[in-house]
Amino acid sequence: MVDFGYKIAKDRQIDFDKNDRSIAQYVRKHEPTFNLCISCGTCAATCTARQFTDFSLRKYILLLRRGENKEVIENIHKCMLCGKCQLVCPMGVNTRGVIYRIMEMCI
Ligand code: SF4
Ligand code: SF4
Repeated sequence: MVDFGYKIAKDRQIDFDKNDRSIAQYVRKHEPTFNLCISCGTCAATCTARQFTDFSLRKYILLLRRGENKEVIENIHKCMLCGKCQLVCPMGVNTRGVIYRIMEMCI
């Protein structure tokens, strides 16, 4: 293939009809505060697990809403359920409850 010095980026279109959003639907059903998240990132900024890993609840909630579950399944076990994120969440998301429900589906 000829190298023109640039390439066409991989398609990042999200097809909600094809992606598996069953985990998000399960969490939403059993922990409705899942819907309140505004992706502010406060939980990730204070997260105990993030001090040692790249764990980000903010990112995982976004991915689950899109039905992009792979990264969440691979990383959710890193949460220690310490509850610090719940203390700082400005929207009152029951973060530990959300994570626990995600773990029920993933681990
Ligand atoms: S702190 Fe709360 S609202 Fe902000 S990203 Fe985390 S869960 Fe969502
Ligand atoms: S409960 Fe989990 S996501 Fe929340 S601060 Fe603790 S380790 Fe981080």
